[in-house]
Amino acid sequence: MSEKTKYIFVTGGVTSSLGKGILSASLAKLLQARGFRVTIQKFDPYINVDPGTMNPYEHGECYVTDDGAETDLDLGHYERFLDIKTSQANNVTTGRIYSTVISKERRGDYLGKTVQVIPHITDEIKDCFKKLGETGDYDIVITEIGGTVGDIESLPYVEAIRQFKWDNGINDTMVIHLTLIPYLQTSEELKTKPTQHSVKTLLESGVQPDVLVCRTEYPLGKDIRKKLALFCNVKINSVIEAIDASSIYDVPLHMLKENLDKVVLAKLKLPTKLDPTLSEWKAFLQRLKNPISEVSIAVVGKYTELPDAYKSITESLKHAGAANECGVNITMISSEYLNEENVHEKIKDFDAVLVAPGFGHRGIEGKIQTIKYVRENNIPFFGICLGMQCAVIEFTRHVLGLSDAHSTEMEPNTKNPVIGLMDEQKQVTDKGGTMRLGAYKCTLAKGSKAASIYGQKTIEERHRHRFEFNNKYRNDIEKAGLMPVGINPENDLVEIVELKNHPFFIGTQFHPEYRSTALNPHPMFVHFVQAANLFHQVNNK
Ligand code: GLN
Repeated sequence: MSEKTKYIFVTGGVTSSLGKGILSASLAKLLQARGFRVTIQKFDPYINVDPGTMNPYEHGECYVTDDGAETDLDLGHYERFLDIKTSQANNVTTGRIYSTVISKERRGDYLGKTVQVIPHITDEIKDCFKKLGETGDYDIVITEIGGTVGDIESLPYVEAIRQFKWDNGINDTMVIHLTLIPYLQTSEELKTKPTQHSVKTLLESGVQPDVLVCRTEYPLGKDIRKKLALFCNVKINSVIEAIDASSIYDVPLHMLKENLDKVVLAKLKLPTKLDPTLSEWKAFLQRLKNPISEVSIAVVGKYTELPDAYKSITESLKHAGAANECGVNITMISSEYLNEENVHEKIKDFDAVLVAPGFGHRGIEGKIQTIKYVRENNIPFFGICLGMQCAVIEFTRHVLGLSDAHSTEMEPNTKNPVIGLMDEQKQVTDKGGTMRLGAYKCTLAKGSKAASIYGQKTIEERHRHRFEFNNKYRNDIEKAGLMPVGINPENDLVEIVELKNHPFFIGTQFHPEYRSTALNPHPMFVHFVQAANLFHQVNNK
């Protein structure tokens, strides 16, 4: 639409966790609805090359793209809001920047120069800012800078933005600063000072924000807006209220009401054609907020104290709930505290159980006991990745009678390794970026539930694991009724199992949750929620 790609930077002030990812995705949604081709990228100031090596407690879920990048969970929001695919280029970390610069230095690319933060690190950051824009595929690239302005590790990014603004032309680049306007209960007023200070911090680095988006519990009155405009050198219409929303999916509509898209387009000298009606989006919200039935689903995992650890799963369940006009109440249950004695008491009231992905031994026996319980009691079950592996272990232990069956991840010396390391993984020693990652094809068995759910013969889904279903046990497992109904056509690996004579008992080696979006809910989740709904009705709950 425009000849030149325009760049929007989103920085954060005052505190972390204000929702830069949701703001970026919401703005992108509005610009997309106006007919612009938009993408979003996230720059994270930590030294890990990617979040793949981080414990979910550190960083929440690790999101995986089609091209196998292990990324920040905000990329999940971008895909879920925009229905676009992101890739490795959409997530850059300080670790990745340094690792590239150091390789260049070792190759001698800097021709004897002293390699420094400015200009070498900042040049590399600027090159990465432009990478997606230079493909010609986008009119607008939104770049979210992780962390909070004022952090030591954010400095090179703020400096790179300063330089980029001058290199790239002031009408082609803008900065949105997301900040917090706290409410003081005792004096009953909203306070602007923290925002003034955080804008000053940006100014010390030579960056003037063009727009302030203000997170607040209460509406911003005219006076507060005036004050912010005056002290932070922005126009009054560029002070945008971001009031706490009941759902993240409301935020695009809030931003539309505040005219954020119009302010941005005016600043970037882009036409404001096409009115963003967002009719499909509103219909989705309508279904999400006005369910005609309700189900309770347990998500059994081991990082349950931190809901962000299962972000894509909980969002996929919400999308599927909206598709079924069914409210989904999600309860996180720590598998560590589940055992044969208490599993009935803990699980009996749920309409369905999802056993989550994971790594390592902690909580594994609780997952296996849960699966036994839902298998025997015909409660809808969905196992994802480790959840599917646990279903295979449970089945071989309790149905085939191989009581020591296990995954070699937990029990390297088990006599019955029904889940084992893939051949190509056996030589791998590095942990970072070395799992089976990204999208792989899978062929579905004719007549299977999986085939009818997808309505397709071949699908493609994203993976993130090292261990696999061991084909040595395939025949016996199949004969006993746990059917391998999804097979990788290239290497014959089992990707989906489903149980015969059970209302819904499916395990997938891949992660369908990475592909569910608000407007395109994933069929596996849609049918899982449907099964929960049916279970709820049949049992007259
Ligand atoms: N730990 C298992 C593996 O590596 C499962 C991984 C997962 O659930 N993402 O194979």
